[in-house]
Formats: sequence, structure tokens, C-alpha cells
Amino acid sequence: MKFTLECSLIFSKPLKDVDIDSLLQGSSDVLQRGAPKGQGARIQKLQLKDDRLELTITSGRYVRPHDALFRLKNLLASELGKKYHIGIRDTEAKSYLIEFELECEPKKDLEIIYAKKIDFKGKNCILLLEDLDEGFLKKNCVDRMISLIKEKIQKQYYEGKEEYWELIWSSIEKKHVWSKNPTEVMEERGWIMHRGRGQWIFGPIATRIIKTMEQIVVDELLKPLSVDEVIIPKAVTWDVWKKSGHAKNLYGEIYYLCPPKSRDPKQWEDVVDIYKITGEVPTKLIKEKIKDPIGGMSYAQCPPFWPYVAGKTLSDEAMPLKVFDRSGTSMRYESGGIHGIERVDEFHRIEFVWIGYPDQVKKLHKEIIKHYKHIFNEILDLEWRMAFVTPWFMAQEGLLDLADEKKEIGTIDFEAYLPYRGTRKDSEWLEFQNASNNGDKYPKGFNVKAKGSNELYSGCTGIGLERWLSVFIAQKGIDPENWPKEFRERIGTVPNEIRFL
Ligand code: ATP
Ligand code: ZN
Ligand code: MG
Repeated sequence: MKFTLECSLIFSKPLKDVDIDSLLQGSSDVLQRGAPKGQGARIQKLQLKDDRLELTITSGRYVRPHDALFRLKNLLASELGKKYHIGIRDTEAKSYLIEFELECEPKKDLEIIYAKKIDFKGKNCILLLEDLDEGFLKKNCVDRMISLIKEKIQKQYYEGKEEYWELIWSSIEKKHVWSKNPTEVMEERGWIMHRGRGQWIFGPIATRIIKTMEQIVVDELLKPLSVDEVIIPKAVTWDVWKKSGHAKNLYGEIYYLCPPKSRDPKQWEDVVDIYKITGEVPTKLIKEKIKDPIGGMSYAQCPPFWPYVAGKTLSDEAMPLKVFDRSGTSMRYESGGIHGIERVDEFHRIEFVWIGYPDQVKKLHKEIIKHYKHIFNEILDLEWRMAFVTPWFMAQEGLLDLADEKKEIGTIDFEAYLPYRGTRKDSEWLEFQNASNNGDKYPKGFNVKAKGSNELYSGCTGIGLERWLSVFIAQKGIDPENWPKEFRERIGTVPNEIRFL
């Protein structure tokens, strides 16, 4: 690693009659602090010009030049203040040249914001940055750029590779009543109705089925495991997604949340008038009158629960903490991916979150799977399977190499066969829910502690109700006569179809 920083310290007034060399006498010690002997940062050039001190600072692996700059600033500030009543107004950097080694050669060129130039020679990367301000230097953005370049190169290696998927359990093959597309059939019969983008109205029959499924989850999973219900916000602010890790990706799938700049009706009069006169809502004008996004609509359901425990220490009696939420929809911009009720932009999900010591979290994960098996085998009588997949956060954050060998930390996807899509072997099965052991990711991100220095883990399982409905109708059809007895008993009399003239 080799760093060369050309930078300046800017003073509150010109340094006349100041003996800068004597003020900097202690600098080599300061720039050496924390590094093996002789391997700290060095001042290569130094020139005083009126109110600025121009410096060229170099270093290797230890003491980055930008850190060195702030050490020098502190050193000078106290001396200048005491002796000459001069302050240091600002720091800036004209150029920052960084050379470092990569673990593997990039497969193709890459771009990164803030870089004036980026060049690769084999496993060597040369990065040039220009015109950097104090904030950028102080926040250590330079080191984050180096990490990001490494991450982008790693990504080139697993791009295009299939997501890790390993079958861990499969039900027996079952006979299905038909091979029709559930969305199409339910739409024809008025059970459901498409509204705008990836959003559906569920009529009385579809709703009764969904609510019966929800009750099955309550009776057969949540009550037996003593899970308490909570209400989690559905508008999620950036602070939450920064801590949950979602702020590192997601952006293309968020429905953004923008409050108005003002609630004063006067400020909105033109919008109202335009609508009243033209019958059109002036969306461009609205855009001018709303603030920057403060976050987005619920994406993964559990992150906005975490502020409830953030910064707290959980007592042994409180663990494992078990809560679930079914208080509203999640929204994702699925773009072209929208597909009947199977892939929608606004969906209904029950999510169950648990937090505890690692063995408690593992144990609960196993118990949850046992309860699910009972529901899908005995009550809904589905043809389904479970697969161990790369956890979402590992896939999205380039941590693939860390995938847990023992398959304890990770995600289990529950998939069902949809006869309308083709043969079992060649068609894509539908992931209708998942259950994850997320390891220490959330407790770390939200700073949740246990007694002493004991490590905490967490897990979550998201039950997608549109997908349950889709799987059930795809395998069992729409005639209650063909539905499994256990389910028929729970749903009771199905509401009448609504006929339109
Ligand atoms: P997919 O690979 O199908 O896009 P995902 O990996 O994005 O799913 P997760 O983030 O794991 O899904 O979300 C958990 C559960 O939420 C899914 O198993 C599914 O039941 C539900 N879900 C996710 N996205 C949608 C969607 N667009 N429409 C309906 N349900 C969804
Ligand atoms: Zn979750
Ligand atoms: Mg998805």
C-alpha cells in the first residue's frame, strides 16, 4: 500500500513571522504514533503560502496521510492558538494517490464515484482522488472506497453464478386437482381484482381463505410457541435501514416516502386549482412541493421492529424474545417481475421475529420448521420442499464466502410445486415463505446486548399470504369439495360468489 496526499491547512490569517519549522518539531513523533518503528507517515514537502500550509504526506500500510493531516492540525492548532492567536479554518486536499494490492485481478474495468481515475495493473490498483474536503477525509471515506473496490471485484467473480441452493427436505409427490393458473381463475370468478400496479383487491372468498390461513398460523405456530403480537411501523426511515444493512442495496425496489414541504393549504392552492380546472393531477408540480425521501414503505417487515430493543440489554427471562406482526402490507417495486398474485408490489405477510442466545435461536428455528411441516403436510396437504439458500444479506453484501458451513446461520426457503407452470423437474417452484437464522447481524447492527459479553443471535420467518393462497389454489382448485378436510373444517361455509350483471 502506498498513499500520497497533497493537502493544505488553511489558517484564520496569514502566518507572518511564524517559525513553522519549530512548531512542527514534534511532528515526526506524532506521525509515527501507533505504527511499527519507521513505518508511520512522513512529510515529503512543506511550503507556507500566506494563509495556507501546503503539504505532501506519504505513508504505507500504517497511519494514513489523512489521519496524519489531522494529527498535524491538532499539533499546530494548540501552538498557534497559544502563541499567535491564529486558528486553523479548514483543511483540504488537492489530490490523493493510492496504490494497493488486490486479492484477485479484476475481470473488467469498473467505475466508482469520487474517483478521478482508477487503473489496474494485474493485482495492483491505482486510485486517484482530487479536491477532497475535510468531511470526506475525516470520515475515513478513503478506506471505505478501497473496501468497496475490493467488494466490486469480488462481485465480478460470483456474478451470473446461481444463488446457492441445496435441497434439505421434500414432501412426497401428490395428485393435484388441476393445472390451472390460480390468478387467472380467481380473477375470472371475481374472487380477486387487479388494481393498478401489482396490487389486488381480495373479495370475500379469497379473503376468507387468507384469513383462515392466518388463523392456522396463529393456532398451529404462534400460540404453541407463545409468540406475542406487536404492531410494527410500515413507513421505514433511513436510520433503520442503515442499521439493518438494507441501505447498502434495495434502492431499485423501494417505494419512497416523501412528506410535503408544507401543510399550509396556500402552498397547495395551485395544485388544487389545476386539478379542478383540468381534471389532471399535476404530478410534476407536486414533486417540487415535497421533501427528499425520509425512507420507504416496509420492505422486509422486521427491521422497523428493532429500534424497540436497540441499545438495550435483554434479561435472561425475556429470552428468547418472540414477537410477530401482521399489522399491514409490505411494498416492493417489482417492476417487470409482477406476476399474478405471486409477485405483487403490495403484499400481506405475517412475520415472526425471535432474539436469544445462539443455541436458543437455533433451537427455535428447528421447532418452527416442525410446526410448519405439520401445517403443510397435515392441514393444507401440499406438495412442497425446503432448501437451504444463501442468506439475503450475505448475497447482497458480498459476504458469500462466509456462508455457514454447518448451515446454522442462513435461510431456508419453502417452495411449492405449481402444476400450471409445467413439470416438477423443469418448472420453477414458488418460494412461498422463508425462515432465517440471521446470526448476530441484527443484534450487532442495532446494538442489542445480553448479560455480560454474551453473544446474541436473531431469526425471522416471513409468511407470504398471497403466495400461500396461490399455492393452495394451484394444487387444490377452487371447489371446496376438493380441499383437505382439516382446512374445510377451519374455513366453515365459504361466502357466496358475487355476481355482476
Ligand atoms: P423472491 O425471490 O420470490 O423475490 P425474496 O427472496 O425477494 O422472494 P424475501 O425477501 O425472502 O423474498 O421475503 C420473504 C417472503 O415474502 C417470501 O417468501 C414471500 O412469501 C414474500 N414476498 C416477497 N416478495 C414478494 C412479492 N413481490 N409478492 C408477494 N410476496 C412476496
Ligand atoms: Zn425479517
Ligand atoms: Mg424478491
